[in-house]
Amino acid sequence: MSTHPHETAGEHIAIIGAGVIGCALAWALAREGRRVLLIDRAEPATAGASFGNAGHIACEQLEPLPCPAVLCTFWRELTLFGGAVDLPVHRWVALAPWLAQFVYAAFRQKRNTPALAALVAPAAAALEAALREIARPELLVRHGHYALWRGPHAAERAARAARAARALGVRTEQASPELLHAARARGGQGDAAGLHYPDSGHVIDPRQLAVALAGAALRAGATFRQAEVQELTPLGARIGVRAEGQIVPAAAAVVCAGVESKRLLAPFGVPAPLTAERGYHLEMPGTPPLIDAPVLHADHNIIVTPMQGRLRATSYLEFERHGAPPDRRKIARLRARLHTFGYACATAHAGWVGSRPTLPDYLPGLGRAPGEAPLFYAVGHQHLGLTLAVPSAHVMAALVAGRPPPLDARPFDLMRFGTARTARR
Ligand SMILES: Cc1cc2nc3c(=O)[nH]c(=O)nc-3n(C[C@H](O)[C@H](O)[C@H](O)COP(=O)(O)OP(=O)(O)OC[C@H]3O[C@@H](n4cnc5c(N)ncnc54)[C@H](O)[C@@H]3O)c2cc1C
Repeated sequence: MSTHPHETAGEHIAIIGAGVIGCALAWALAREGRRVLLIDRAEPATAGASFGNAGHIACEQLEPLPCPAVLCTFWRELTLFGGAVDLPVHRWVALAPWLAQFVYAAFRQKRNTPALAALVAPAAAALEAALREIARPELLVRHGHYALWRGPHAAERAARAARAARALGVRTEQASPELLHAARARGGQGDAAGLHYPDSGHVIDPRQLAVALAGAALRAGATFRQAEVQELTPLGARIGVRAEGQIVPAAAAVVCAGVESKRLLAPFGVPAPLTAERGYHLEMPGTPPLIDAPVLHADHNIIVTPMQGRLRATSYLEFERHGAPPDRRKIARLRARLHTFGYACATAHAGWVGSRPTLPDYLPGLGRAPGEAPLFYAVGHQHLGLTLAVPSAHVMAALVAGRPPPLDARPFDLMRFGTARTARR
């Protein structure tokens, strides 16, 4: 092992947050022989978004969401009109700066796409290689995923989506007549059209995936500590990690605290305009899948993924405060929709809500704080944290080690949101 530029005897690289991003990074650093201390207030991948996501390895989502078309048409997707996007009125003032940056980013989508695409496109292959290395290949299924449309405009919508995918170099195929027949048989007759995206994939349990990566890190010598990190402070060329009233010096620290990362980064002058983009899931134990791959019911933005012993249906982009109680009406509506698609969705499962950590330009934040302090961050993975966990971990392991990352990480530097001085105010 090479000497680490930040390590001194007896000190760790502290990773704050054991969601899938922190767990993947703990593995990536530990496998290189680094001394890693992974810290979370809860057991790995139980407290944040990494517990409850859709399990989709979304290699087709190469473009960041903000674009001029979204600015013109988002209102049609509002929950008010039966859609999946909720921008509650009481949040408008608090969200205004984030929304202004979203609008700005919409006109930079073309410029931002190559950066995101470079991370996303190889993600399934990167995850497959990582799982092979840690001897858990069964966690990933590479059957691609399907998008289905219903109603009189179904074929036209599918054709439009196929054209959009082709323009980005994403492969699609027509969904088989058998699948469309099965979908009609379950969820009422009428027109249906579908596309298969063969290069994506899904994991059979998102939590297990993060736990497997954390487990591999522990086997390689990492330590896990369950504690709330109250603050990170510069300690000369080290970082002070204040947890449970004690300050523990770390050779370096990486903030991977999901939507709660902003507070930990602020003392270092790093701006992290993260918002909670909340999503919901419902589970259907014992229900057979339409096919062994995620199915996106595209008209309603609901994705149903086969997971170990159950189906998981996820939906909604709710711009509510992180930690606010779940909106039971959304869970009831998701359940009702699933019934119309022919899924037996018992009322036994109460539903789950979690916060996607989202930056206004929908690029992740990967980098190092300016100045001397060895403070790094891997945040803002929005809808793609499961997909990007391993690729981001490889980038971060290189940055922490002081070697060139496997791709150009400059577009992910959080200083794109302002200067250090702006962030301190
Ligand atoms: C409904 C839904 C569906 C999704 N579907 C997909 C999908 O199909 N594919 C995909 O790629 N992505 C998907 N995502 C996105 C993905 O789940 C997230 O991007 C990803 O989980 C973010 O991981 P993270 O590790 O950054 O954050 P989190 O998983 O939120 O983890 C952050 C961790 O930091 C800890 N923490 C925070 N602050 C502190 C502190 N001060 N001290 C100690 N610990 C702290 C928290 O306890 C938590 O465990 C989905 C998200 C949702 C909500």
